[in-house]
Amino acid sequence: MKSLPKSLQKAIDELSRLPGIGPKSAARIVFYLLSKTKDDVAVLSHSIGALRENLHICSTCYNYGESDPCEICSDDEREKATICVVEESLDVVALERAGYSGIYHVLGGVISPINGISADDLRIGELLARVKENSAKIEEVILATNPSLEGEATAVYITDRIKPLGIKVTRLARGLPVGGDLEYADELTLSRSLEGRKEA
Ligand code: ZN
Repeated sequence: MKSLPKSLQKAIDELSRLPGIGPKSAARIVFYLLSKTKDDVAVLSHSIGALRENLHICSTCYNYGESDPCEICSDDEREKATICVVEESLDVVALERAGYSGIYHVLGGVISPINGISADDLRIGELLARVKENSAKIEEVILATNPSLEGEATAVYITDRIKPLGIKVTRLARGLPVGGDLEYADELTLSRSLEGRKEA
């Protein structure tokens, strides 16, 4: 592959670093882009460049937003009495597709002793403070961590701390593949497990 023009090789190398994209897919994308007009490619590269420019972490829910509080936190149509706790912002995308209409709290990962991640490394303290501050308004906390060992352990940890506050804590119903990621669940499975959530 050494004979490729430098800029071509560079673009393939950069794209190959993205999750889920190997060198073959990267090459396919690069040649696809070369078949497009300069303007088309500019629109794409601008939208990627603008990501870090325009998106910030919301100081309420820790999801990405263009404003702070984010679009979801400041939307009056959302049900503010329900907070759905997720591992990553990517999970919000899946839950939005499934039709969830409450608000969120993004933990930033899961408790994982093997990887040296403790509760203090996540936004659990922020969640507890948020729930306590708004305890009059919040009716339910849905724990939507992934159905993995670590996701379960994190859910148990949070349940033990929120339940004493007298707020209902629920967990997504089974039916999600164990060990699977929320982001890969299809909309129907996810909206059913949301509907069938059980008290933790
Ligand atoms: Zn927010």
